[in-house]
Amino acid sequence: MKDSPDIHRTLARQLRRLGIRDLERPPPPEAWRDLLAVISRTYASAEEDRYLLERSLDISSREMEELNENLRLSSETRVAAERDRLNSIVEALDDGLFVLDTDGVVQRLNGAAQRLLGADAEALIGTKVFDRFIFRGEGAPESADPASSLAAILRLRQSMRFDSSVLLREGRPPRELACTLSPLIAGDSCVGAVFVLHDMTAVRRSEMELRQLADALRTARDKALDANRAKSSFLANISHELRTPLNAIIGYSELISEEIEEFHDDSLDEAIGEDNRRIHQAADHLLHLINDVLDVSKIEAGKMQVEVIAFDVPELLAAVAAVIEPLMNQGGNQFFVRCAPEIREMRSDRTKLKQALFNLLSNAAKFTHEGVVRLDVTLETEDGERLIIFAVSDTGIGIPPEKLRDLFNAFMQVDASTSRKYGGTGLGLTITREFCRMLGGEVEVDSVLGEGSTFRIRLPLRPRAAT
Ligand code: ADP
Repeated sequence: MKDSPDIHRTLARQLRRLGIRDLERPPPPEAWRDLLAVISRTYASAEEDRYLLERSLDISSREMEELNENLRLSSETRVAAERDRLNSIVEALDDGLFVLDTDGVVQRLNGAAQRLLGADAEALIGTKVFDRFIFRGEGAPESADPASSLAAILRLRQSMRFDSSVLLREGRPPRELACTLSPLIAGDSCVGAVFVLHDMTAVRRSEMELRQLADALRTARDKALDANRAKSSFLANISHELRTPLNAIIGYSELISEEIEEFHDDSLDEAIGEDNRRIHQAADHLLHLINDVLDVSKIEAGKMQVEVIAFDVPELLAAVAAVIEPLMNQGGNQFFVRCAPEIREMRSDRTKLKQALFNLLSNAAKFTHEGVVRLDVTLETEDGERLIIFAVSDTGIGIPPEKLRDLFNAFMQVDASTSRKYGGTGLGLTITREFCRMLGGEVEVDSVLGEGSTFRIRLPLRPRAAT
């Protein structure tokens, strides 16, 4: 059979199967019936396919619609939740916030901004709020024009901060603010600005309170200084007044001892000699205390003078040793003085150095029993400066580490029982430290409880000004 181009391949195959070859002529009735049956089945099956196709198309388009709807709903919910979150953040801000378009017209604002301006959102949206502000501060000339500032930040795409700007409010006092104007950028272009207002009232109030507090503190400090000066001058006067009769007591008790000696009368010495010695000792001790109090009050009042002279160090050490040796013997202590041979002359305040050494050595004698006390004098060079070191070390009771820091404070004693046992005022080390500082040096301490202490005075061999 020659296939006609109009006949479908499948039909052509059926025709061949039914033996119909000549398409120009009708087929025999049997073949014709079979052909009709095949065609009818094909139609039925096509119809069924079409029905199934239409149904499945129908179902999937409905599902698609549902899916679309769900997607739309969920993205709308998410966008709404995000918008709510942003809104609540903006509303929670304590600072006023405006979103402006490029002409400075308000697009939106938060509650704090409404409260600051004293108007609600409807009245402000769509208006140009800038007219109410005077901008001042960093980046803005005095009383800058806000509109030109907006143009500038949009052009430069940079934030500007205006400290101490002023908000003018109708019928209410102007209010001081710190403002920040920042460009709002979407993609490549500037679409407006964010304007943030920080109320400075609380800051100014606390600044004022701080100023008042500082004034009150200054007044209290001045009063305390005045009172301290009055106390120091009272102490200086009273010590001076006490010294005069005390010197008389000491003088007379010395006179009495001389007279007892002259009489060579043992019974007289027995009767009043010991009492007289006690009077002399007590008066001497009192004079020592009064001198310490006078020194401290002079130091506090800034009236202690420094007198720098050149003097011989070994000769000073001999003088100090002569005074201190009896004290060392009383406690059964061995006392050694060693001075580096190259040390001869130094320039300083001899009297103050002598007193400082005496204080350290008498403490060493007081707090050491049947031990060893040394005074070692050496030279050192520090930052090109020649220093002379006087180290007083003892094998006495030592000082607990927690007490070392405050040891040089006035009236500081390691413990009350020590002071009862050993006497003293707690002023000796204060005076020693102050003297050392006045002489351009320092005094330091190292100590091990129960083993002993070393106090070191470090002074310039020659004060800088004097070299
Ligand atoms: P004072 O000896 O008159 O009490 P100081 O200021 O000279 O006053 O000394 C303060 C305290 O430091 C003393 O009371 C004592 O507790 C402690 N101290 C000073 N020197 C020594 C020392 N060499 N050994 C142990 N303790 C010392």
